[in-house]
Amino acid sequence: MQKLQTGKGITFIYIILLGYIVLALIWWGILLFRQSHQIKAYEEQNLALRLDSLTTPVSYHVELERIRHDEQMRTFKFFGEGATFLGFILLGAAIVYRAVWKQIKLSRQQQNFMMAVTHELKSPIAAAKLNLETIRKRKLDEEKQNKLLENTIRETDRLDQLCNNILLASQFENSKAQLFVEPVNMSQLVKAGVENIQQHRTSHIVEAYITPGIWMEGDKFMLGLVLSNLVENAIKYAPKGSTISVKLYEKDKLLKWQVIDQGDGIPNSEKEKIFQKFYRVGNENTRKAKGTGLGLYLTKRIVEQHGGEIAAKDNPGGGTIFELSFGDYSIQHA
Ligand code: ADP
Repeated sequence: MQKLQTGKGITFIYIILLGYIVLALIWWGILLFRQSHQIKAYEEQNLALRLDSLTTPVSYHVELERIRHDEQMRTFKFFGEGATFLGFILLGAAIVYRAVWKQIKLSRQQQNFMMAVTHELKSPIAAAKLNLETIRKRKLDEEKQNKLLENTIRETDRLDQLCNNILLASQFENSKAQLFVEPVNMSQLVKAGVENIQQHRTSHIVEAYITPGIWMEGDKFMLGLVLSNLVENAIKYAPKGSTISVKLYEKDKLLKWQVIDQGDGIPNSEKEKIFQKFYRVGNENTRKAKGTGLGLYLTKRIVEQHGGEIAAKDNPGGGTIFELSFGDYSIQHA
């Protein structure tokens, strides 16, 4: 709120300053035109004193023409210089305004991010601590104990993913994120990732449709992060009990990797923006879910570093399809 007001305050001061400069310029213009007119009148008077229009009509008219031509040239010069000057001022103002707004927007997003991160870091730590203290203090039966432990593992997984995202984001910021590229059995990587999620995430039905034997050059850790970011999002933004499908297959000589959910979907106007750093869709439903706005930004960066593309599409049955496409892969039949 504070930042928003700062932004509005800056815009107000900026408009006043710009308005003043433009009005001052127009006022100078008016003064110059007046002055030019006065010069013309003065020169005409002078001419009438110097030459008689009846005795020397030709010279008189030549001089008169010159005086009028001079005035026209002055007008032309004032207009030209004034318009160029105004044009440069407006162009410069637009560039500065854009840069300032960009900075304000970024710092607003960063502030939101810091608040989200603080919350996201503290809440799994608090939950894990509470679970462990409960286990220590109370004599619980094995089933309850396992439930608490399972919950603790989930919370630490979340913490782990968040830390990875933050570290990676700062590496990308300094362009230092290095890929450790090796041949990766994508079918195995996605299958193992989904199985791991199925074990710990019982709130949703996670299904996998994987063509076996797909290989690609890539970084195992980064590709694993792509899967967990997309599936964790599907879990966050789709209702409990709904189905999340993960597909890996070949189509039109491209490797397709999809994560499909049955949530509320993403409006068309947001489908590009969600990949921006710190960006979170502003509606209440998505705001209720915790998040930092880093996951999809990183996912896109990783996919692009692997020579692929990512897009968010509508799931015809309701929800979202995140579709990744890669051109460089191979299928090894057993
Ligand atoms: P975070 O989830 O931490 O907010 P992300 O970068 O992963 O950040 O996602 C950016 C935004 O995209 C989210 O805030 C959410 O509004 C939207 N989003 C991402 N995945 C989904 C999804 N599967 N369904 C609906 N909205 C989504």
